[in-house]
Amino acid sequence: MTTILNADLHCHSVVSDGTLTPEELAERAKAHGVELWALTDHDEIGGQKRALAAAHAQGMRYLTGVEISVTFIGQTVHIVGLGFDAGNAALAQGLRDTRGGRRQRALEMSEGLAKVGIHGAYEGALPYAGNPELISRTHFARFLVETGVCKDTNEVFRKYLTEGKPGFVPHRWATLKNAVTWITEAGGMAVIAHPARYKFTPNEEYALFTEFKALGGRGVEVVTGSHSTAEFASYAETAKEFGLAASRGSDFHSPGESHTELGTLPFLNSELTPVWELLGNRIQ
Ligand code: AMP
Ligand code: MN
Ligand code: MN
Ligand code: MN
Repeated sequence: MTTILNADLHCHSVVSDGTLTPEELAERAKAHGVELWALTDHDEIGGQKRALAAAHAQGMRYLTGVEISVTFIGQTVHIVGLGFDAGNAALAQGLRDTRGGRRQRALEMSEGLAKVGIHGAYEGALPYAGNPELISRTHFARFLVETGVCKDTNEVFRKYLTEGKPGFVPHRWATLKNAVTWITEAGGMAVIAHPARYKFTPNEEYALFTEFKALGGRGVEVVTGSHSTAEFASYAETAKEFGLAASRGSDFHSPGESHTELGTLPFLNSELTPVWELLGNRIQ
C-alpha cells in the first residue's frame, strides 16, 4: 500500500481523555477525509467495538488501537498498539493492571494541589473523566481551566502538572517489555508514539529504540500532531536507521484543545514503509 493514504492512527475518545465519543470522532475523521482510522485510548480498549462499527458506518477502514503508558529510564513513554485482537485476555489484563494506580495517583495529585491553595481538585476533575478508571492529568487540567485557575490546559501543565510542579506525582507505569509483548502476542504491532516529546539524552533515546526493536517493536510515529516539520524529517531518518515502519496520527483529543485536526497532517514520505503496509491482514 502507498504512503499516500489518509490514515489517522492516533486519537482519544471519552473512554480515556478525549471529549468526543467514538461515533463523533468517526464522523469528524470522515469529514476530514480519513480513509483508515484507529482509536487509541490510553490504557483502555473499551471503545474499540463502537469505534469499529462507527468506522464502518462512515465507510472507513479500521485498525484496533491503544496507547499504553510505559516507564522507561525514569520517564513516561507511550507505546501505541495497532491491529491487535481486541478479545485477547492477556492484553486486557495488562491494561487493567496499568490503569490500576490512577485513582491513588489522582488523590495524591489533589493533595499536592491543595498545598498550593487549590482545594477539591480530585472531586472536581472526576466528573470530567468519562471513565473514572482513566482519570488523567488532562481531566485535572480541564477542571482548572473551567474554574478559572488557568487560561488553558497548556498553562495548567506548565504551572501545575509537570515534573517538579505541585500537582505532579511520579508514577510507575507498565514496562516497555510488557507493553510490547502484550500488543505483539495479541497479533498487533507496537509503535513508539511521538518520540520527539520525550526528554531523553541521545544515548537514552538510542537505548529506547534499540530495546524496543529487540523486544519485537516494529513501528514509530513519524508524522504526529506533536512533531514539528523538522521532527517529521529527523524521525523519518530514525525509522530508516532502525528498520521501523512509520505511522501517522493526529493525537486528537478535543475540538477546543487539540491544535491538530483529525486527518490533516502531511502524508508520510514515500521512502518510508507505512505501518498499514505491514498490517494489511489486520485491517477491518
Ligand atoms: P496522564 O496519562 O494522566 O499522565 O496524562 C497524560 C496526558 O496529558 C497526555 O496524553 C496528554 O493528553 C496530556 N498532556 C500532557 N502534556 C500536556 C501539555 N503540555 N499540554 C496539554 N496536554 C498535555
Ligand atoms: Mn492524552
Ligand atoms: Mn501520548
Ligand atoms: Mn495520545
